[in-house]
Amino acid sequence: GNDDRVARISSAIRVIQDFPKPVIMFQDITTLLLDPKAFKDTIELFVERYKDRDINVVAGIEARGFIFGPPIALAIGAKFVPMRKPKKLPGKVITQEYSLEYGTDKMEMHVGAVQEGERALVVDDLIATGGTLCAAIRLLERVGVHVVECACVIELPELKGRDQLGDKPFFVLVSCW
Ligand code: AMP
Repeated sequence: GNDDRVARISSAIRVIQDFPKPVIMFQDITTLLLDPKAFKDTIELFVERYKDRDINVVAGIEARGFIFGPPIALAIGAKFVPMRKPKKLPGKVITQEYSLEYGTDKMEMHVGAVQEGERALVVDDLIATGGTLCAAIRLLERVGVHVVECACVIELPELKGRDQLGDKPFFVLVSCW
């Protein structure tokens, strides 16, 4: 059942303490990728949820949203749109600034990759404070795209990132307390 699949996915994620700096408990999904059954189950759980939702855009957030987003997009018949760090995309871009713990960052998307009225799923590996997903939602909504839901493999519920998303639907496979 679903619980067995989620348990296997959860145990395939490695936690590395103090990376990239002290106190951070880094959730390392590269070990999940080494387990083909757990990786396949991860993609299938998302595909089962999103296949009949008329989603035509999967927006993946750099970098680990580029691992989980494309197989979901292919399986549900949606296009994949990369949401990138600044100055990586070669064409004309639309930019969204967002705040981090210290300072700000930017996220960019190609102009013309999506059209007004399209229906998007936003994918990343993990939600912490929720700032990154919020920036992706804002970027898509600025060009008239409807964000149906955000999906992550892992949630750090103590950081209450979910609250940042307001009433935007959010789906996660594993919660790490
Ligand atoms: P946030 O904007 O605070 O929700 O942070 C989410 C982004 O930062 C995602 O793209 C994650 O890949 C990354 N991230 C934040 N905290 C962690 C963590 N503890 N382990 C792995 N990735 C993290």
